[in-house]
Parts: sequence; structure tokens; C-alpha cells
Amino acid sequence: MWGDIVRIDMSNLKFFRERVPLRYQMLGGRGFTSKVVLEEVKPTCYPLGAKNKIIFSPGLLGDIPLAPCSGRLSAGAKSPLTGGIKEANSGGTAAYRIARLGIRALIIEGKPPKNKWYLLKLAKDGVEILPANELTELGNYQLVEKIMDSYGKKISIISIGQAGERLFSLASIAVTDTLNKPSRYLARGGLGAVLGSKGIKAIIIDDKGVEDKKSFYDEGLFKKICKEHTKRLVETKQVLTKYGTMCSVEESQEMGCLPVRNFREGTVKELNKVSGEALYNRIKERGGKISYGCMIGCPIKCANLYNDKGRKYLVSTFEYESFSLLGLNCGISDFDTVGYLNRLCNDYGMDTIETGATIAILMEAGLLSFGDGEGAIKMIEEVRKNTILGKIIGQGAAVTAKVFGVDRAPVVKGQAMAAYDPRSNKGTGVTFATSPMGADHTAGCALPGRKGMRDDLNLDPHNSKDKVKLSCDLQTLIAAVDTSGFCYFSGLAVEDLERIAKLIKARYGVKVTGEDMINIGKTTLKDEREFNRRVGFTKVDDRLPEFFYKEKLPPFNTVFDISPEEIDKYFNL
Ligand code: SF4
Repeated sequence: MWGDIVRIDMSNLKFFRERVPLRYQMLGGRGFTSKVVLEEVKPTCYPLGAKNKIIFSPGLLGDIPLAPCSGRLSAGAKSPLTGGIKEANSGGTAAYRIARLGIRALIIEGKPPKNKWYLLKLAKDGVEILPANELTELGNYQLVEKIMDSYGKKISIISIGQAGERLFSLASIAVTDTLNKPSRYLARGGLGAVLGSKGIKAIIIDDKGVEDKKSFYDEGLFKKICKEHTKRLVETKQVLTKYGTMCSVEESQEMGCLPVRNFREGTVKELNKVSGEALYNRIKERGGKISYGCMIGCPIKCANLYNDKGRKYLVSTFEYESFSLLGLNCGISDFDTVGYLNRLCNDYGMDTIETGATIAILMEAGLLSFGDGEGAIKMIEEVRKNTILGKIIGQGAAVTAKVFGVDRAPVVKGQAMAAYDPRSNKGTGVTFATSPMGADHTAGCALPGRKGMRDDLNLDPHNSKDKVKLSCDLQTLIAAVDTSGFCYFSGLAVEDLERIAKLIKARYGVKVTGEDMINIGKTTLKDEREFNRRVGFTKVDDRLPEFFYKEKLPPFNTVFDISPEEIDKYFNL
């Protein structure tokens, strides 16, 4: 199998390359990052101290765009937001270039003296660690432009904005896409603060001079599988291609699980104004871009580019999660206002989900009103300005709720919920409760059509029956897909893992089956849970906030009625 580990110690600015240990051979992406966190990071360490490590790893086929959607990048560390393990993954072009450089994982450890900032450059000839104090206080947009002016446009950039520099727990990490925009985010769990604590403002990945020739165990079979799957994705993912992830607005409205006004209502009144179709029409009218691939070789192309009233670039990508949390959850439904809020979050490097949930808490506390878009913009500016209020907001929804005495905080393990109210999407509710990552939809979201690993489960999102099993299956499948480096929009079923196994075999000649991949997913979840156990997490941390069990959610008057005892069975499945 390919690749080495590149290890960088920011305490002494030294780096070295080492072989991937044999027991890590079948791991990439999340499987790799979580294994390193478990084996190398002291569970009780301060997340922003020298002993934490941040690991970046592409998937096992990250250097071959022919394998559709195989270029996700995972980042892992101990999270400053949850205190537990965190893996976040994103699209963009960085994983592809890292893999082309023969790097299976980049492990960054140690810590430089305060106020020393650096730029890492990974290239064919090795690693450079360059001083970068002049780049501080730049937002991601300007930073990327400046770096590309100096280093050319055929590179990928991983970077942090002001929130990461200030070590805020809601800080994200930006990754550039195929249009060279910082539009993709390793968003959740405050990993931007961990990168900031290592004194790293940006990582440049330059694959110039790397040979294109690859060796295959069975190239013909590899190409055949890729061709067939690409054709299937083009035919079956047309809704996602046309509307992007905003197609989920209608699905969630139908289930009644949209997060509206700090999770008080499950639907919106005027769906036609906020639907995927409304966004599609707006993007077209303004001369934006519908449907492009965030990474090379994606046939689904769910990314979009949204222009402002003056037809100038405002933000990419306009996504369901960001729109729901920064918009609907704050009572704001106007695309331009939410697009601007999203742009600010991208620029300052703030997780849009955590930020939207935090602003809604401030609205609940009475600092501003639901629907106050101008006020929401000011709240984000407080973070950039580093005011006392900005420092509180920067710590996310759980801390902000405590500071302002709000008891309706939609968080689990200190992390804000993504855009599915668990009362009307109970499978996702179980995932929010039990995922080692906190309330994370990417850990196992029970969207319509996702049936897990069996055919006999009750999939009605309002019915509590079988939802623990469903969540368990989805979390396992996703952990396996995240380890392979594939985007889960390209398939999240047992047969998808079988196809991925065949591709790995055709590339490397190793004997691997779909079942082996599923077992890797299970092991990864166990590793993550074990790390959290060592930190001190117990069953009590696998619970939703009380109000979800008590307050009925209109319009279906649902409550989350899966008992703690039932939830705890998850770990025996
Ligand atoms: S489906 Fe969307 S998120 Fe996934 S690789 Fe393609 S553009 Fe990126």
C-alpha cells in the first residue's frame, strides 16, 4: 500500500517521514486519524496544548479521481469544543494533492512560542516551514488570494481565519475547491483552533512534478467499476446535482424536522421561498454557478456558487445545514442575508452550524430578536473584533447558553445539533446522542431512503421503533466510508462498501471484502468511543437535552421518546 506519514513537530520546527505501521495498512481518512488520536494523544491533555496532535489523512484511493468522489480529507484531534475525539472531513482538492505526494497522513504535534505563525508547504521535494506572521488577521478569502498570488494557482490550501487564530472552540478549517475558493470546511469540533494552537495559518500543497503514472493490480477491472459507478451516479443523483444539499429543505419540511427558531418549530410557512428550487432559480437569475464538483472526478457535482444582487460572487457552497442553522433557526429566511452570514463564517473560519445555533441562543436570551439579520451579522463581527461578547460566542452554543442562562441549548457533548430536530427524525436523534463526535449529522443521518444494513427496519422517522438499530447501522457504514475517503453522497449502503473493497483490491491486490470494510467502520467507532471513555465520558453523555423529551414539536407534536435504557443498547448491537 502507498504512502508515508509526515510528522511535523511545531515545538522545534522539525519534520521527518516515516513508514506507515503495518497495523495501519488498511486505514485512511477517519480510520487513520482516530487510530492515531487513540494511540498517541493523551486523553486528559489540554486540547490547545503541545500534547494534542492534529492529523490530516486522505482516503485509500485519494490520488485517483477516476474513482468517483474518492477525494475526501479527514482531520482528527482531541476537540476543544467537546473535550472528546473529533474527526471532521471535507471535499476540496487538498486530499488529492496530499495523496499524490505519497503522504498517507500528516501528523502535526508540539507547539511553537506564542504569537509565532507559520505556513507549511508540502511539495515533491519535501516540507518547508515558513514564517507567516504577516498573514495573521487575514480572513480565508484574502489569505487564499494572497498565497495564490505568490505560489501560483495549481496548489491546494488548507487554512484558518481569525476564529482559529483566537483559538475559539467554533473555529473551522477551510479547504480550497476546484475553483480555488475556500469553500469546503473541516467545520466541526473546533479543529481550526487546534491548527491555530500549532501556530499554523495555512498549509500549501503543491504537487508540481509528481508523475501521473500509477500502478494497478488490475487496471482493467478498476476502470470498469469506476465507469459503471460514474454512470449510475449521473443517472440517480439528478436532484442533488440540480439543487445541491438544499434539496433537503423539502425532505425535512415533510418530516417536520427543520430547525426553526431555536428548535421550536419543525416546519416553515412559506416553503416555496426557501426550497432548493427557489435557490436554484435565484442562482440562475444572478448568473451564479449551478452544479460543480468540489473535487476533481465528482460526477454528482452538488456544489454551487451564489452571487449577490450585483451579480458578484458572495459565497460557495450555499448548503442546507448552513442555511438551516444560520437562517431558519434564527428566524431568517432571506437567501441574501443568510448567504452573507455564511460568507462571514467562511471568511473568519467559523463553523456555520455552531455559529447559527449560538446566535439563536442569543436570540432566546433576548440580546436580539429572532429574524434580526442585521443583528446576526453584528454578532459574527463581534467574533472577528475579539470583543468580550465575541469571545463568548466563539466558545459555541453550550457555553453561550450557560453564560446567558438559556436552558434550551440544542447540544450534545458540548456540540450544537445539525439541522434535523430529533423529535421528528428519531434515527438521527439517536446518532446525535450516541456519536462519539457529539451532535453530528455526518456521523449517521437517517435521511429518507437510508435503510442501514438490514431490510426489515421501521424507517418512519416519527416512530421510535428500530431507530437505535438504524442509527447503529448508519454510524458503522459512515465510519467505513469516511475511512475509505469516499464522499458518502456517492453511496452509503452495504453494496457501496463492497464496491469500494473491489476497487481497493483492483488497485493494490490486497484481499479485502465489503465485510472487512464494515468491520473497519466498527473498529473505528470503538476506537473513538474508547478515547472518550479514557477522557471520562460515561453513558450520561449519550443523552439529548431535556427539552426534546418534554416539549412537543409542531406540527406533528412529536417528542423524543427513546428511553436512555434503549439508547444504551446501541453499544451492544
Ligand atoms: S457530491 Fe458534492 S460534496 Fe460530494 S464530492 Fe461531489 S461536489 Fe463534493
